Amino acid sequence: MKVMVTGGAGFIGSALCRHLVNDLGHHVVNVDKMTYAATEGSTAMLRGSTLYRFHRLDICDRDAMQKLMTAEDIDGVIHLAAESHVDRSIDGPGAFIETNVIGTFSLLQASRSYHDNLPASRKEKFRFHHVSTDEVFGELPLDDGLFTEDTAYAPSSPYSASKAASDHLALAWYKTYGLPIVLSNCSNNYGPYHFPEKLIPLMIINGLEGKQLPVYGKGANVRDWLHVEDHARALAMVFTRGRLGQSYNIGGRNERTNLAVVEAIADLLDQEVPLKSGSRRCLITFVGDRPGHDLRYAIDASKIEGELGWRAKYTFETGLKDTISWYMRNQDWWQPLRAARYAGERLGKASS
Ligand code: NAD
Repeated sequence: MKVMVTGGAGFIGSALCRHLVNDLGHHVVNVDKMTYAATEGSTAMLRGSTLYRFHRLDICDRDAMQKLMTAEDIDGVIHLAAESHVDRSIDGPGAFIETNVIGTFSLLQASRSYHDNLPASRKEKFRFHHVSTDEVFGELPLDDGLFTEDTAYAPSSPYSASKAASDHLALAWYKTYGLPIVLSNCSNNYGPYHFPEKLIPLMIINGLEGKQLPVYGKGANVRDWLHVEDHARALAMVFTRGRLGQSYNIGGRNERTNLAVVEAIADLLDQEVPLKSGSRRCLITFVGDRPGHDLRYAIDASKIEGELGWRAKYTFETGLKDTISWYMRNQDWWQPLRAARYAGERLGKASS
């Protein structure tokens, strides 16, 4: 199978490209605009493979995307390209509307034309998998409820609103034009190659450097964490076996307050590389809350577990240890990103 992955040089897209090529032996055509969030290192190990090709393109360029689909003769699209950082969406929502809404619209139109022109046998097998987030559902109360596939959309931030809009477009293209769509909504991811402005990598890196660990509000907001490799396996399953026109919630049943996450990182780092000055918990500082900060996200993953047999392999404890160890071994990946853009004081994100 030849799969076009959009946004494959980003955090989750690169994990998906690695999984599709290395574990499943699929051909991958990675299309990425290479924004600030993309890194070459995350797919460097695939470059020599005959199963992998990269194209630097903007998904908003509909003609170029359609030509590429035809030239590469693809069997389907897994669409991850997006602006993805909530804090950035608050500072500048325009890019989120451009890529997440208009870009998804352009890609759906390109895919529709490509799909219309496929021979009947290929047409039946073609799929467009739209990758989304649990943030489209808004927030849950602290002590009750889970997001199911039937939960009503109620996005809070420009990021989640733009993702919600793109989800509606994808499902409308299924209902109106018969484009074979599957959709997934996943909880917060963490793991290798996570850009160092996001909560978990920022806290690991700040902790390694003995810098302050800034937490929004009182750190009481709850997120449901999933290791990125578990997400990549889920995406491959939904893409190949998910029912058309359906959405699948993906989550690891790993709810933690942001404060608990930061404390766990501080404690694990203390065990690995103790600081002379004492426990890293002393580095935790509370800063003014993010506007529209959702209280709690939590996923009911029974549908994907029951229908497709997917289960998360990592617990939060094993996944966090693995991630900390990866950041300690791969300073040559994150040091230049950190040096180029951040002095350590920008707050990490608390949601996907
Ligand atoms: P990311 O920011 O790390 O990567 C996004 C990638 O998309 C980057 O490589 C970027 O260069 C590329 N891109 C951006 N605009 C583009 C454009 N116009 N054309 C082509 N490429 C473009 O994001 P991520 O965390 O890997 O998230 C990937 C997808 O998964 C997003 O759609 C996001 O909404 C969704 N998601 C993320 C999480 C999470 O916790 N990170 C959770 C659930 C869902």
